[in-house]
Order: sequence, then C-alpha cells, then structure tokens
Amino acid sequence: MSAKIDAIRQIARRLLSEGKVDMVIGFQKGTLPMMNEPCFVRKAEEADRLVWDSHCGINLANYVTDRKERIAVVAKGCDSRNLVNHVIENKIKREKLHIIGVCCDGMLDKRLIAQRSQTEAQAEVDAVEEKDGVVSVKAGALLWQAPRAELLQDNCKRCRHRNPVLYDELVGEPVAEKPEDDYEDVKRIEAMSPDEKWAHFEDMLSTCIRCYACRNACPLCYCPTCFVDESRPQWVGKSQDPIDIRTFHFLRAYHCAGRCTDCGSCERACPMGIPVRQFTRKLNKDCEELYGWQAGLSLDQRPALDTYNPNDPNDFIR
Ligand code: SF4
Ligand code: SF4
Ligand code: SF4
Repeated sequence: MSAKIDAIRQIARRLLSEGKVDMVIGFQKGTLPMMNEPCFVRKAEEADRLVWDSHCGINLANYVTDRKERIAVVAKGCDSRNLVNHVIENKIKREKLHIIGVCCDGMLDKRLIAQRSQTEAQAEVDAVEEKDGVVSVKAGALLWQAPRAELLQDNCKRCRHRNPVLYDELVGEPVAEKPEDDYEDVKRIEAMSPDEKWAHFEDMLSTCIRCYACRNACPLCYCPTCFVDESRPQWVGKSQDPIDIRTFHFLRAYHCAGRCTDCGSCERACPMGIPVRQFTRKLNKDCEELYGWQAGLSLDQRPALDTYNPNDPNDFIR
C-alpha cells in the first residue's frame, strides 16, 4: 500500500471515530481499470475502502455542493481550487469542510492508454501498473510500457497548482509547481482565420451527442435548473441541430469564465473524446491576460467576472 493511501485512511478513520466529520469523500477502486470512483465513507471501519493512485481524476468538489453536514474531502490541487470556488460562491461553508489535501503528481489519461492499447493490441486494458516513472499496461496478450509523463492527462501536463491551495491536513510532500502556462494550444487556435476557426469547431463538435456528461462532471455546474433544461423560455433547443450544440457549448463555457480550474473532469467524462477544454482554456487565458486572474487560488477575492473595478479596461463600464 502506498504511503498516501495509508495516510488518507488514517486521517479518515480518526476524523470519523472522533466525530469531527459526518462523512469523508475520497476515492475507491472502480470495477474497471483506470476508473476509480467517488467513495462516501460514514463509518471509521469503512475507511479502508479509500484509495489513492493515478486514476483519481474525478473532481470531488462536485460532491460537496449545498451539503449541510460536516464533510472531509480528499482534494488534489485542482479539487482544492474548486472547493475555494464553492466557499466563495456560498455553495458550502468553510467551517463545514475538512480538506485532506493531497500533493498530486498528475493523473493518467485513461483514454490515451485505451487508444494506444487498442492500436497495439486490439484489446481492452486489463491492468495498469507503475514503477519508477514507467507505466506498464496489460491489454490482452500484449504488455506495453511508456514513461509516465507521456501518459498524463493534457490538463495535468499543463497544471500549475498540483499542491492543494487550501487544506486542513496535507498528505505527501509538496511537488514542484510549473510557474506558468504557455497557452500554446489556445494560441494555435487564435492564429487561425475565422473560416479555419469555424471549420475547426464544427469538426470538433460534430460528434457531440449532448449527453451533458461534461456539464455533470464539472463542479462549477450547480444551477438548480441548467439553461439547457429551461423550457420557459427555452434558451436552447434540445435537438442535435449543430446550432443547438454550439449554443450549448458556448454558453456552458461562458458560465465557467473566471471560475474554471482546468481540472479536466469535463474532458475525462466525455464519451466521445471531445476536447471541450479548448473553450474554457481560451477564457482562462483571457482572464489571466485581462485581469491577472486564475480561479480558486484565494478565499479573499471574488472571481474576475464577479466584481466591479473602476480600472476595468472596457470603457462601457466606467
Ligand atoms: S490538474 Fe493538477 S492537481 Fe489536478 S489532477 Fe492534474 S496535476 Fe493533479
Ligand atoms: S460530454 Fe461530450 S458528447 Fe456529451 S455533451 Fe459534453 S461534449 Fe457532448
Ligand atoms: S469546465 Fe471542465 S476543466 Fe473547468 S472546472 Fe469544469 S470540469 Fe474542470
């Protein structure tokens, strides 16, 4: 068992047996490889269900919204930033939260590993193991290996806040942080002509089935009635018409403007492999350039688009 799993279990056991919290939210092994699940532990003797490894990509801040009981939550850097968002936006009270921060080495990209396995072995992934920075994948009769760094989720390769920004207890030693984001992926799209951009996004969204998994996985999407479900007025049609699909994506992204932590849960959840972070990363870049703002780093500041500032660069606001 890894030292991190041991530490998380010990903390959970202690908090529950001392009555400090009513529930601990962490991860448990899933039924499939690379698919850990959220785990809700209410009794100290159940703490051994908790695990920690490179497949804990789900953002657990999604499970604390509007809860009234005292909750301990296992939080990576990105989860902790979304917990900050939740506190700022009054979706949970800070005093109701006990944050078990985990210094994070990044999560493996389950889709990339599955794709490579299918290309190489035409088989489903049976097992994934890691040792000394090398990932070994067993898929059918084939065993293949690659450096861990190659197989990280795209957002984890770019992540600048791997250590929790807010926590009550810390698991693991702080890891090195990346000082800045070059946003080269966004710049590549910004450099396209309008026609190229249109074709790019049309192609990118052509396989969207509007299952809303990207919305459901995002800790920022907690409106009691989502705009896509409103019927009076109906802001966006429910059809597979490309205009309805684009409207959903643009509005969803704008709802995340100044709030997205680039946790990658939306992309992870998409069954069609659509890189929906292309929208939110553009808005993250704009927020940083216009307002010097990254979401979820401080409890003392309102999100960039949630404040009035007389020095706002736009004339209309003065
Ligand atoms: S985005 Fe950062 S904190 Fe979140 S899982 Fe990836 S590396 Fe860890
Ligand atoms: S998860 Fe993927 S397929 Fe489903 S609505 Fe979002 S982008 Fe479309
Ligand atoms: S929009 Fe995607 S990347 Fe941003 S916070 Fe939501 S799930 Fe995470």
